[in-house]
Amino acid sequence: MMEQRVEDSALATRLAATANPQLSSSFFSVLPAEIRRMIYVEYWRHNCLYEDAGEHTSTGDSTHKYHIINKVRFGSTVRYTHSPCVVSDQNSHDFRMGRLDLARGQDSEVHTWARRIETDWAVHWPCEELYKNTTRRPQSTFMPALLTCKLMYRECIESIYENLTFVFTDTTTAESFIDLHPPPTLRSLELCIRLPVFLTELYCPPSFQHHPRVSSPDHPGFDAHDNPWATLCNALAHRITLRRLNIWLDIQNLRAWDERVWERRLLKPLAAVSVPRECFTLALPELGPLGKGRGEKNGRTYLEGEYLDRAPFEVKRAPRPNYTEAYLARMLANTTLLTIDAGPAHGGAT
Ligand SMILES: [Zn+2]
Repeated sequence: MMEQRVEDSALATRLAATANPQLSSSFFSVLPAEIRRMIYVEYWRHNCLYEDAGEHTSTGDSTHKYHIINKVRFGSTVRYTHSPCVVSDQNSHDFRMGRLDLARGQDSEVHTWARRIETDWAVHWPCEELYKNTTRRPQSTFMPALLTCKLMYRECIESIYENLTFVFTDTTTAESFIDLHPPPTLRSLELCIRLPVFLTELYCPPSFQHHPRVSSPDHPGFDAHDNPWATLCNALAHRITLRRLNIWLDIQNLRAWDERVWERRLLKPLAAVSVPRECFTLALPELGPLGKGRGEKNGRTYLEGEYLDRAPFEVKRAPRPNYTEAYLARMLANTTLLTIDAGPAHGGAT
């Protein structure tokens, strides 16, 4: 990562030294820099809009948000792909369970809404569908402007980092992207993450006290202080200077949030993140009967009372989707759809 930063810095220096001032271009010689910056912003905004993006998106709204997806490695070089975010507010009402209920009896619809509930893109499921539907996905958003000339490249890079919000749906991509962009590049981030089960288990007693290492196929092991979530929080706290941070959290667990998450332990690393409180939002699942008002009594620790007041972020709680119900509904719909596809098992009418 450090080598990549040096390469980026060297590239920026080379560009500055060799950029043509483009004096014959009206865009650069006539328009003042402020107007050019406004044009760039409008260009990024325009590329976020999709007339056929669907009824559940922010089509027509100006979001200036892009998902950073799939880290792809070419040797030692890290590459990312991006796709417009069409969800203007990830903390707005999550209607997926309601739509699943309305779809009862229509197996294809049930399957669709259950899958939207179960996806790790969570409330950004419209963005996932836009990204995966290649017929609706744009060929390129930034490249035409970035490849115009060195001067426009420099101005566009500055505009991209200054004006856009980058959205991440997994801890590893977020942390590695932050690592490649030292201050003052990234200004606004949105995280929408369903944490893997093993991560939240690291913060549950007795695991938390004894710091066991949980190994994975590509890592020697994790503990409560060395894991993708802790690393991401550390990156947010010490490697970038953000103006805005919006985090939506859930777990990849069929069991209740109250049952498997020790909030104060899990969220403690966020205390070191320095973002103005009014611009730092943390969306969490609503506490159920197990957790609400009983955090101390049953040994679990939730963000309630004085802990909420002291938190460096504003907490917004909303009902969590019923993942068990979605899973069972999808299984049942699958069975019915497969039965219809296969037709009658025997000879049929006599
Ligand atoms: Zn999105």
